[in-house]
Order: sequence, then C-alpha cells, then structure tokens
Amino acid sequence: MKLKATAVLHSILCVLLLTSVSLAQDLGAQFKKINDGIFTYVGTSGESNCTIILTQDGVVLIDSGNNPKDSYAVLDAVKKLTSQPVRLLINTEPHADHTTGHFVFSPPAIIVAAAGAGESMRGSNIVQRVEKLVAEKPELRSQYEGYRMITPHIEYRDRATLSVGERTIELFYLKNVHSEADTAIWLPKERVLFPAASVGVKRLNNLRANVSIPDTLSAIKMMKALNPDVVIPGHGQPGTAQILEDNERYYNLLVDRVKQLVQQGKSLEQVKQELKMPEIDEWAGKDRFPNNVEAAYRAAKGS
Ligand SMILES: [Zn+2]
Repeated sequence: MKLKATAVLHSILCVLLLTSVSLAQDLGAQFKKINDGIFTYVGTSGESNCTIILTQDGVVLIDSGNNPKDSYAVLDAVKKLTSQPVRLLINTEPHADHTTGHFVFSPPAIIVAAAGAGESMRGSNIVQRVEKLVAEKPELRSQYEGYRMITPHIEYRDRATLSVGERTIELFYLKNVHSEADTAIWLPKERVLFPAASVGVKRLNNLRANVSIPDTLSAIKMMKALNPDVVIPGHGQPGTAQILEDNERYYNLLVDRVKQLVQQGKSLEQVKQELKMPEIDEWAGKDRFPNNVEAAYRAAKGS
C-alpha cells in the first residue's frame, strides 16, 4: 500500500514536471525562460525585448514589445502562463519600439516610467508614424486596431521600489544613457538586471547628442555593483554581467584613444578618420561608429 502511494505520488510529480517543461517550450521559439516565472520574448534581429514576470498578485511586464505583433505574442504567452491580468507595465525607455504596444495591455495595466517619459512620447511622432504605417500597409491594420498612444500613469524620479506579490522590483533612473527617461530594473532576490538600452550586446549603440559616455560609465559601474546573475538588455540576447563589462571596456578604450588624438591637436573630423578600434571588429551597428566618436569627443573635451 505504501509503495503504491509512493508510485502515485511519483507519477503526479512527473506529470507536474512535464507540464511545467512543456509550458516553457509552448510559449514559442522567441521566449527564453530566465528564472522561475520570468520569461523574455527576445526581439527578432535586435528588435526590442519584452519580459513577463509572474507574481502571486498578477503579471508585471518590462516594456510592451517592438510592435503590436510582438505585443500580441506576449499577451498569448501571458494567457498560457496564468489567468491573472497584467497589472504593471514598466518602461525601460519611451521610444516607439518599447511603447507602441501599450494599448494591447492597458487597461488594465498601469504603466510606470521615469520622469519625462510621457513628455518624450507626447513630443515624438509616434502617432503619425503609426498612421503612416497603417496607410502604407493595410495588412497591418488589424494589428493596430484600437491603437492609441498610452503615456505612463506613474512617473518616478531617481529611484522607486515596487512590491508586487512576492516580488521586489527596484527602479533606477539612468541619466543620459539613451533617451530622455531610461530606467534600469533590478530584481534583488532573483539577481536579474534589466539595464535598458544603456548597453548593447556586441553592438554599437546609437549615441544621440543627449548621451554622455561618462554618465553611461557611471551607470554601468552602479549596475555592476549590484552583482547580477542575469542581464537582460533592451535589445539583444539576455546574458550575464559580461555585457556590462564589454561595454565598459569599449567606452573606456574609445574615450582614451579619442583623448590621445585630441591632445595631439586633432579635429573631430581627423579623429573620425584616424581612430581605429580593432577590438570591436565583430560588433554590429558600425554605422553608429561616427556618433560614438562624437560622444567620445564631447567626453574628451569635457563638454
Ligand atoms: Zn530607444
């Protein structure tokens, strides 16, 4: 009798185990299981990532996908994982490739972002771009059905801590790393870090005029000090703290070399022509190298 009970228990455990294994796979090839209850939808060809975090009290999303097609793939996955609603949607940045799909989740999701995110969205051409896209490609009309720009309901300054169910989620404002309102997200118990678009994965970032390499290096130092096990950037494959280290090494080398050339009296144009960075030969996004050099030139000049 005792043996039989053990056998029954064993088969129940096997069924439970198989169910959870098939669950992770059933979500689709673009989903990566990061940790218990944490699944990242990895964007195609470096498009933005979207992460599902399950909690006892509902779902938290990090960003809403590169476009509504991705947002609906994430919504389908959420429905397979839980019957609970998406309660919170945290934005790593306000750009269109992280925010257009908000309408798929909100309501009921409450959107949280760094101060300035709503202003950045309202000042952008996100809505016009959607209207133009749908006019040019009628086949996309169904995906954008019900689209409207949804700006954050809550904006925080500097730091915020969210408690949802058993999870603690810490938000850190990152200054001058990519957009007007970038947020790093840290799950201290799970040791999972979302560094937003402050770092690329073997890929050069688009360093617009508002981006400061010294501020980016400070942000990387702060995030490295958290000692994360997993790092899930805004774009590119999830990895480890190596992503932070690779970017730190690159920016330090870049600024050092530009400084040397500036000290030799070279102009920005001469620096752009003469600077060599064989260390990043394998990195993608080389078309962004000129604006990376411009950012390093600003850093070298102390402006
Ligand atoms: Zn962006």
